[in-house]
Amino acid sequence: MQLRRQGAHATDAQAPARAVSRSAATPIAATKLAYVETYGCQMNVADTDMVLGLLSRGGYQQTSEPERADLILINTCAVREKAEERVFQRASMLFHRRGRPDVVLGITGCMAEHLKDQIRERAPHVDLVVGPDGYRRLLEHVEAARGGEGVVDTRLDRDETYEGVDGIYAQAEAGGVVGRVTIQRGCDKFCAFCVVPYTRGRERGAAPREILRQVRAMAAAGVKEIQLLGQTVNSYRYEEVGFAELLRAVAEVDGIARVRFTSPYPLDFSDEVIATMAETPKICKHVHLPLQSASDVVLERMRRGYDYATFRALHDKLRSAMPDIAITSDLLIGFSGETEADHAATLRAQGELRFDGAFTFAYSERAGTAAARKLPDDVPAEVKQRRLAEVIALQQRITAEILAAQIGRRERILIEHPSRRAADELMGRTDTFRPVIVPAAPGLGPGALVDVTITSATPATLFGVS
Ligand code: SF4
Repeated sequence: MQLRRQGAHATDAQAPARAVSRSAATPIAATKLAYVETYGCQMNVADTDMVLGLLSRGGYQQTSEPERADLILINTCAVREKAEERVFQRASMLFHRRGRPDVVLGITGCMAEHLKDQIRERAPHVDLVVGPDGYRRLLEHVEAARGGEGVVDTRLDRDETYEGVDGIYAQAEAGGVVGRVTIQRGCDKFCAFCVVPYTRGRERGAAPREILRQVRAMAAAGVKEIQLLGQTVNSYRYEEVGFAELLRAVAEVDGIARVRFTSPYPLDFSDEVIATMAETPKICKHVHLPLQSASDVVLERMRRGYDYATFRALHDKLRSAMPDIAITSDLLIGFSGETEADHAATLRAQGELRFDGAFTFAYSERAGTAAARKLPDDVPAEVKQRRLAEVIALQQRITAEILAAQIGRRERILIEHPSRRAADELMGRTDTFRPVIVPAAPGLGPGALVDVTITSATPATLFGVS
């Protein structure tokens, strides 16, 4: 499968700005419009859903047109410097496109947490800067900002899991097939290159009763697939409840046909979770397992906590428990001190492990991380780009081979939405997360589970007929 995002494994920065396009239901009559653009990982997409749910309590309805909005928010990622630069450009563009002078323009998410006051110093037209733990106060901040007060709220909160806050997915009119539930916030791993523990704070799990409440609400609203999200999702624990138990409980909710999770941390992948995946048909047979590098020296410098042999043993265990499983990964190229031999080890691992796809990105130093403090960013830019190109080319070849090998197979897909290619086609996904385009047919629509035969493949997509 072709993966388009770029970024550290749990922070998957998707390149294009994304205006969430589902219509938001509103608990009180909607009188104002909010435009939200989302960058970054799935957790940020889930946060946008939650922010829209919170805003609906204040009478905001979502719009996809910034010119009509009373409130414009950019929900951001801080994993790469380039992504932050792009947000400054978007903020300036959206400021000029706003329809009226009283429109509030805000930056939320990891970049808000990372840069704090620096955002308003550099971009005074930004009225509001709110970090990932400040969303409960968002409505009051918006009102303060509308009154002319610049607001910066980047307080981290070790207990905030947004219990009791429903995103728009849990509302009956949302109409989505896939619902995201953030079961864990923050990260305690402190990998040397990663800014997440500083922007999202310490790891904490949401209460299982709250997770199940959200899943049931989504099921009642028509959601068929649940994606459980966390920076290191399989480290999840809440009192006596661990990740395997939670997975089983979510899979038992009536109306839910599929359960996925992302992104697991390799060292925390227990035998119990592997057995639960293998034994529970509703749990999808796809794992996104971030390797980052296959050089033990580089892995140690990254403070990832495992060596390549340990990662490979886990990979083999997953494949032997679930022979048809799809495994995708993240590869971080050109980290401090990476030699040609280290790079060759990563290429070799790609050939050995044959990931279905990989998010690949060149290392860029992030202020505040251990690497920025202690390790030189010493691989020249052109060397990083050349190595990155080699890794991408190899991965594209492997992905294309894996997809071509699917031709002739019978697969069950969940239809997600109309295809973006043609009006008479639909897009669904296999259990293994591979996208499949099928012809539209009467009675076949989003939310349908249908068995198809794979008839052809491009390097990124499968095509099938039922
Ligand atoms: S610190 Fe490591 S484990 Fe935590 S989010 Fe960053 S890359 Fe993932």
